[in-house]
Order: sequence, then C-alpha cells, then structure tokens
Amino acid sequence: MTKPCIICVAITGSLPTKANNPAVPITVSEQIESTHEAFEAGAAIVHAHVRNDDETPSSDPEKFAALKEGIERHCPGMIIQFSTGGRSGAGKTRGGMLSLRPDMASLSVGSNNFPTRVYENPPDLVDWLALEMLVRDVKPEIEAFDLSHILKAREMADKGQLEGTPCIQFVMGVRNAMPVDRDVFDYYIHTVHRLFGKDTPWCAAGIGPHQLTLNEWAIAAGGHARTGLEDNVRLDRDTLAPSNAALVRRAVEICDKNDRPVATPDQARALLGLRPATITKGQAA
Ligand SMILES: [Zn+2]
Repeated sequence: MTKPCIICVAITGSLPTKANNPAVPITVSEQIESTHEAFEAGAAIVHAHVRNDDETPSSDPEKFAALKEGIERHCPGMIIQFSTGGRSGAGKTRGGMLSLRPDMASLSVGSNNFPTRVYENPPDLVDWLALEMLVRDVKPEIEAFDLSHILKAREMADKGQLEGTPCIQFVMGVRNAMPVDRDVFDYYIHTVHRLFGKDTPWCAAGIGPHQLTLNEWAIAAGGHARTGLEDNVRLDRDTLAPSNAALVRRAVEICDKNDRPVATPDQARALLGLRPATITKGQAA
C-alpha cells in the first residue's frame, strides 16, 4: 500500500486576523470548532497558537490547556502540536505550555529573517526548548526554514537532544527566508534521507499561494502536508477560504489524485512514533 499522507492543519498562527479572513479562529472555542471540522475533513494533526481576545498573539498556558482539553474531547486521537514559534512570546515563555505535554511541539533550531524582522532562535533557547520537550516526551517537529536547520537537527540527535527520529518540516515561501524552489525542495528530501534514513517523516508548508504548490509537491513526493489558515487564507486569488476544513479538503483531493490514502490519527501516530492518544474522561475508550 502507498504510504498514508498525514495532513496537518495549522488553524490560527500569530498573524492572520478576522480582517484578513473572518474564518480565522481566534477564541479557544472558535479554535476547537474549527479544529473539529478540519478533523472530520481528514486532518490528523492540529498545529496551534493561541490568541488574546484582541487577536494579538499570546503564549498563555491556560489558553493552551483549554484548547488541548477541548480538542481531546471533540477530536478523539487527533495529534496536538503546539507552536513554540517566536511570534507568540519571547525567550522561555515560548515553551511555557510544554508542561501540558502536547503530543508534539514545533521547534525552530536556527535563526533567519522573516518579512519584517529577524526570527531569533539563539542556541541556548533552542537547547532549552529541546530539553523541555525531551523530558516531557513531547515530539519536536523541526521547522526547517533553511538547509542548515536539517543538519542542525542531525547534530542535536547525535548529542541526545532529540528522542528518536525527528519529524522535519520544510517551510518555504516566507518572505526574506527560503523561497519556493523545486531544486532546494528535492535537496531537502535528499538530505533528510541521507542523514536520518528513508523512513524519516517529513512534511512541507508553503506560505500564501505557495501552500497549494507545496501540498502538491509533498504529497506527490511521498511526504506529509500542512495546510490551514495560519499559512494561507485563500483558496485562490479571488476567493477567501471559507474554513480550515476547506483547505484540508483541498489537500485530501491532492492525496486522492496521487493515490495516497489520508492517514488516520492512529496511522499518523505510528508513522511519527508518538505515544497512544490521551483518552479524556467521559470519552469512549
Ligand atoms: Zn505556527
């Protein structure tokens, strides 16, 4: 059987607002509802940031806790991945929610430019975030904004800073960082295979209109796909995406075209080497 494709939905992010697209979920209850719809559409992973009620980014562990509880209740088995990205807080506040033990967390291992600022990931903070994940059994997803980040992940694995085989995500199309470039994309895959082995899971995210391109490339090349309103608020130039679920459905269609079955949460957990799902009280076992 062809390898199932894991679809990750990045529901909110730090940047898009209701003014960009009214479907962007901001409050925790909106986030739970949007995630549930995306889960029903085929997403196995939810990548989440939290926001204040005025839509500004937050790193409040209480919001993360409420979100986790709601997703566990409404989307049984879904893999919960929290962002430790730098737009939501500074320094160690970025990892303040790791004590909640989400299944996964994003981990940036190097610095690069963002559209209007430097995305700072100093070595001591990277080490601290990786250690917090290691001791709490939270699987990192390495955010590769650059080729050097894949090599850094190998170095960290060798030093025992990462447990097991990491999941690596290629992020392309962020302005002032790595553009969408097919040769680089292919070389990223080659590098992951060379350094970590052919079975290492990798995923790809494209920003704005590049989301579709990266979904198509990754699914056809045997990788996993990230979609969602965090990275892109439109279906096409003239049409706002009506929901996160609509973007998930678009990724499912690409899987169908490529004869890739869409991974269930259980299949995704096995592919990523994650612990079994947390069963919430009151939920069928
Ligand atoms: Zn994010």
